[in-house]
Amino acid sequence: MPKITVDGQEIEFKQGQTVIEAARENGIDIPHFCWHPSLSVSGNCRVCLVEIEKMPKLAIACSTFAADGMVVHTKSEKTLQARNAVMEFLLINHPLDCPICDEAGECKLQEYAFKHGYGESRFDEMKNRKDKRVALGPRIMFDGERCISCSRCIRFSDEIAKQNQLTFVQRGDRVTIKTFPGEEFDNPYTLNTVDICPVGALTSRDFRFKARVWDMSSTKTICPGCARGCNIDMWVRNNEIMRLTPRENPEVNDYWMCDWGRLNTFKFVNAENRIDGAIIKENGELKNVSIEEGINTAAKELKKYKGNEIAFIGSAFATCEDNYAFAQFAKEQFSANNIDFARYINEDDQDDILIRADKTPNSWGAENTGIKPGSNGLNFSGIIEEIKKQKIKALVVMEDNIAATDSEIEAALKKLELLIVLAVNENETTKLAHIVLPASAYAEKNGTFVNFEGRIQRIRPAVVTEEMERSLEGMSMSRLDKFGTKYDAWANGKRVNAKPSWQIISMLSQKLGGKLNYQMAEDVFDEIAKTNKEFKGLDYDVIGEQGVQLESFKKVTETV
Ligand code: SF4
Ligand code: SF4
Repeated sequence: MPKITVDGQEIEFKQGQTVIEAARENGIDIPHFCWHPSLSVSGNCRVCLVEIEKMPKLAIACSTFAADGMVVHTKSEKTLQARNAVMEFLLINHPLDCPICDEAGECKLQEYAFKHGYGESRFDEMKNRKDKRVALGPRIMFDGERCISCSRCIRFSDEIAKQNQLTFVQRGDRVTIKTFPGEEFDNPYTLNTVDICPVGALTSRDFRFKARVWDMSSTKTICPGCARGCNIDMWVRNNEIMRLTPRENPEVNDYWMCDWGRLNTFKFVNAENRIDGAIIKENGELKNVSIEEGINTAAKELKKYKGNEIAFIGSAFATCEDNYAFAQFAKEQFSANNIDFARYINEDDQDDILIRADKTPNSWGAENTGIKPGSNGLNFSGIIEEIKKQKIKALVVMEDNIAATDSEIEAALKKLELLIVLAVNENETTKLAHIVLPASAYAEKNGTFVNFEGRIQRIRPAVVTEEMERSLEGMSMSRLDKFGTKYDAWANGKRVNAKPSWQIISMLSQKLGGKLNYQMAEDVFDEIAKTNKEFKGLDYDVIGEQGVQLESFKKVTETV
């Protein structure tokens, strides 16, 4: 393999790689603003200038191809002088409004000014003034004074979102970003420009001024908005989710996520209408009770039904662990045949970038952990039909608001003698329920989802529930780190009294004299891996932070 030497270190590179790419692959960071590994090279910020032996002038590392034997200096006096000069130039007209800038704490300009700047300015003329609060589109605010004209946002829109919506206008120090006349910056992926803007010029209208970066913790988890399963970081302050940002995974979402997923898959966790403790309906009156009392009542009522009088609706929004425990319970207690889950497919809302028509994160996982009709059993619509005829008298629904999808379903549910719902929020289905048991949201538990390409990925708790807090008391910081979040992010704020569905189901099984007795999500997963060949050889450590493609999908991919 050909080699170059960077700062005295010999490294291998692949033909066609630039100096910045070769260095990065070998853990050497060359400062850069405009270069991004997934975008074309524009070479306009000049901060990646390096000294290359036998070249007459400094060269930009982002557009200089590595060549065998090349000797590169990223810390030589000439390089540092050039870098300092670039920083001084970029800061000439910069407003230096870091104290009120959302990007502070994760801003490349701030970081490089600290690392590579002079620490003072020789510029005492009037700074150039530009527009500071321009709504480029429904989700993005632009600050012209902070923009360093790196063109990342323009290239992202053209090359990744495939919508030519942004451009530079004017020249020299008047240059600024604008949308094309009559256009709004409103493609389904606009918020990714906030992540890649190296300064605070582009901010999210949803997140602006809500939290300082250093006051939040981030947890590596998965977006539940569709079957893509984009890898995300969930940012939490005072036990409240403040924002989601994409987490790099070249096999799933590269560096990106869609705006819909980013904005619509966390607010329900913070919402006021969370199911907090159990609710039972007595003589038409709703009564708030403890989870244990709710489970006792549910067990007592369930005993009145058997065989095909009862049906079970699992959920493609719930984890493999929840669905597996649910299916085991239905089999163990009722030899249930009538078991299925609702599908949410919107063929009109899919693209070639990330967005999938299946609007659930785990339909494959639900089906393949046991949520499917037994022999002669009824599927989802069959179950609803039998409820209408009052042949099915009792129904257990886990983590799905099925009544909201169709008024006919809502009408059918009213005919049930017993409706038990495990739910995260109050909704149309919980309103009809006789017993509601509080399920933890995806942000409050461990578990796994399988995406549309058969990639199994882990979700982790970013928000603490009452139950989790009790179990975490006295736990060492190193064990707490295993939960993937910093404890200070949970120090204040509201806690919900809820449990993961697999745990509620396990408790119900115990009450009815059953065998399910899981203590942790990992226990459930280990049992799945032992009993289901699709998951053979897997555990939480193997799945890790980037997920693993299941064997049966690998074969499909190889055949194709
Ligand atoms: S708005 Fe940000 S990403 Fe776009 S050109 Fe300016 S600095 Fe670069
Ligand atoms: S594409 Fe799907 S998984 Fe990815 S962010 Fe959007 S909704 Fe979430």
